[in-house]
Amino acid sequence: MNKKLYLFCLCLLAGYMGLAQSSKPDYSKITLVIHGGAGTITRANMTPEKEKAYKEKLNEALKTGYAVLEKGGSSLDAVEATVRVMEDSPLFNAGKGAVFTNEGKNELDAAIMDGKTLKAGAIASVTTIRNPISTARAVMEQSEHVMMIGPGAEKFAQEKGMEIVDPAYFYTETRFNQLQKIKDNEKTELDHNGGSGSTENIFIEGKKFGTVGAVALDAYGNLAAATSTGGMTNKRYGRVGDVPIIGAGTYADNTTCAVSATGHGEYFIRSVVAHDIASLMAYKGLPLKKAADEVVMHKLVERGGEGGVIAVDRNGNIAMPFNSAGMYRGYIKKGKSEVLIYKD
Ligand code: ASP
Repeated sequence: MNKKLYLFCLCLLAGYMGLAQSSKPDYSKITLVIHGGAGTITRANMTPEKEKAYKEKLNEALKTGYAVLEKGGSSLDAVEATVRVMEDSPLFNAGKGAVFTNEGKNELDAAIMDGKTLKAGAIASVTTIRNPISTARAVMEQSEHVMMIGPGAEKFAQEKGMEIVDPAYFYTETRFNQLQKIKDNEKTELDHNGGSGSTENIFIEGKKFGTVGAVALDAYGNLAAATSTGGMTNKRYGRVGDVPIIGAGTYADNTTCAVSATGHGEYFIRSVVAHDIASLMAYKGLPLKKAADEVVMHKLVERGGEGGVIAVDRNGNIAMPFNSAGMYRGYIKKGKSEVLIYKD
């Protein structure tokens, strides 16, 4: 064999081995991180029973998603399965238990992104889809589009065989009372300041955001992010938050990280939070934690945006910064799992 041919064969073999290597699953790095919303969650406004219930549900969500990853399932399957558990729980502001709009309705937003292909799917302002995250995934995988809204998204969900429910399914007394309380406060506020009104306070009761989200790294090195929400209490007609806006509340790119956010959506949209974190890693070479801290603990704070994010990079490093009093959050990696609520 002449020298050139020999070298060519050697290169082919090395290339083949490289490919074989990269497609070999590596279970040592599989990671799942979740959040169940950020806000003024303090020990003072929590009962031991409520705390137990939240922790149990967060653990159940973590276990569900991790089981997918342990079996060699994709990060996309893991984040979808995880978010569905939280959507079905009345404890969180997503799916059942979603907050009420000013008109007394539940309007849901969700998004999912695949870090391997950079494909994404999102839906907004839907009122009859039981698990918005699965329809967001269907938009990504079974349509030519990235985002569908309102009745169109609902028609699409029906066509794709998603579970459709009566809007009353999303009702919970706690959330309904939250709306009444905020509306009463609004009235008081208007009375107090001579009717000038305040747009800043119209949304927030106790600044408790309850959006849910998951980010994951699978055994094949692929990242994914998923977020689902009812938005913010007392939101006005047609209001859409950061969650379904790719790059704001949800983002994933295998070369950097996967991010899911929770907080005052208007600020997260204006700061393009999730993409900004990925960009700091890509352009400035910052490690994940530094990039996430820079955006959540500095930029957002300066701009008055309350909330937090969860994130994972392709090496399984995680970050869960928040600038609010608390954030329901948890992670599981290398068999070690932790669920946290408060700052300390
Ligand atoms: N980010 C969500 C929104 O603005 C609210 C939340 O995180 O609970 O719609």
